[in-house]
Amino acid sequence: AAKKTGRNCVKLFDRDDPMEINLDDSVTDLLRGAIAGGHVAMVYQPIRDARSGQIVGAEALMRLTGFNGESISPAVFIPIAERTGMIIELGRWAIRTACRELIAKNCVGMVSVNVSVVQLSTPSFALSVAAILRETDVPPHCLVVEVTEGLQIEGNLDVLRTLRELRTLGVKIWLDDFGTGFAGLSCVREVAFDAVKIDRSFLQATETERGAQMFRNIVGLVRNVGCLTIVEGIETHDQQRLSADLKVDLLQGYHLGKPMAAEVLRALVAAETVVPRVGTTASA
Ligand code: C2E
Ligand code: MG
Ligand code: MG
Ligand code: MG
Repeated sequence: AAKKTGRNCVKLFDRDDPMEINLDDSVTDLLRGAIAGGHVAMVYQPIRDARSGQIVGAEALMRLTGFNGESISPAVFIPIAERTGMIIELGRWAIRTACRELIAKNCVGMVSVNVSVVQLSTPSFALSVAAILRETDVPPHCLVVEVTEGLQIEGNLDVLRTLRELRTLGVKIWLDDFGTGFAGLSCVREVAFDAVKIDRSFLQATETERGAQMFRNIVGLVRNVGCLTIVEGIETHDQQRLSADLKVDLLQGYHLGKPMAAEVLRALVAAETVVPRVGTTASA
């Protein structure tokens, strides 16, 4: 069970607590055979163009189902997968699955996949991404790697080298959860991210004038360093309007679409695609 140790600080594991060690062990057991046993799946949350509202891509999110059918949060199993090294295999599987289910099937033109610092620290990571792109026949620019700022990119030479290799391949790199960690600003200075996702905590604070001012300034900061601006965690119409008014590039959140299975996303994209009727469109 997660423990609150202070404001915004959730301590997930207490090594001295036997209950927690059990949880850790059972999740580890589950993860070990998860791919072969079908316990993991990817779901996809729409990412929309702020101006047109069209779905331009999706974020791939991993789901783990326990032995009793219960859903286990990524906040619980990702850290365990990282600690046990299983994130390497799971992470490769996530990228391959996202490329296959979305891009190879022409569902959307772009998919972003979260990657952990453990993956980025592995010298062979970029090579394995290149192999997946070849195998699935997906153009590199259709794949985005989402990196969370809290993960000590700054000064981590292995991670910086991997990010350079990914960039050389043509894969896009986005900074996730911007504003939640200490590394944010220096991280944006060190790595030329294609886009920055502004953490939803800033959006939630926009009810006060002070919070709204801060949100505007962060959007401006991201834009001024030449990155695309993405606002995540949009839950209301007002939050969508506020973001669109600031000329943010891309939007994501429950209000614009929840994470869903690939087939459901495909049906949604198809339903939203306006088919021009014969005789009503002027062809140039
Ligand atoms: P994230 O990358 O910041 O992903 C966004 C999270 O916010 C997702 O939670 C998503 O379901 C949730 N979300 C989306 N829209 C809204 C909204 O409007 N309101 C609220 N309250 N939440 C929203 P999820 O799927 O539980 O994932 C949590 C985190 O776990 C992710 O945060 C990501 O860091 C990590 N994660 C998920 N899948 C993977 C994966 O395949 N690999 C790695 N390394 N990490 C992953
Ligand atoms: Mg993400
Ligand atoms: Mg993330
Ligand atoms: Mg995020």
